[in-house]
Amino acid sequence: MAAYSTRHYGSSRYGLHDPKVIVEHLTESSTYGPIWTMFAQNVADNELHELPGVCTHFVIDQNGKIHQLVPLRLMCRHTVGLNWTAIGIEHVGFNPSDVLDRPKVRAASLRLTNWLRCREGIKVSNVIGHNESLKSPYHLEKVRRLRGQTHDDFPTSAMRKYRAALRKLTC
Ligand SMILES: [Zn+2]
Repeated sequence: MAAYSTRHYGSSRYGLHDPKVIVEHLTESSTYGPIWTMFAQNVADNELHELPGVCTHFVIDQNGKIHQLVPLRLMCRHTVGLNWTAIGIEHVGFNPSDVLDRPKVRAASLRLTNWLRCREGIKVSNVIGHNESLKSPYHLEKVRRLRGQTHDDFPTSAMRKYRAALRKLTC
């Protein structure tokens, strides 16, 4: 991660200190098992062909169980441009409705995100979907060809609903 951080952010720091952003993702899979295996391999990813392997701090499975894969004190590769300051939360599923319309998953996701947000003092507006990464004021990317790179998971249409639900929770 120190080498990745040097290439992409211009600093060899690999610790996640004072994170400013939480990024919500979808795994594009229907179960947790293959996702754990995919992250555990720590091999160069198919898209950017880099190490360390892609990862995430948390995965919420199809039953709403929360799995922590990486300690919060470490950066991890889940969102180009934001890994230096973002906590990553993956949700098993294909569409935002797999989170928003499944009561157990929705409750677990909102509870985890709210706890992290309050613990780290992160604004609700900085709880974003992966698809919103390029609009984040914290977006930083030294590699020119990746400056416009994002994914289509959790677009603004779904994140508006997510943030509205999050605002109703207290710290
Ligand atoms: Zn994603």
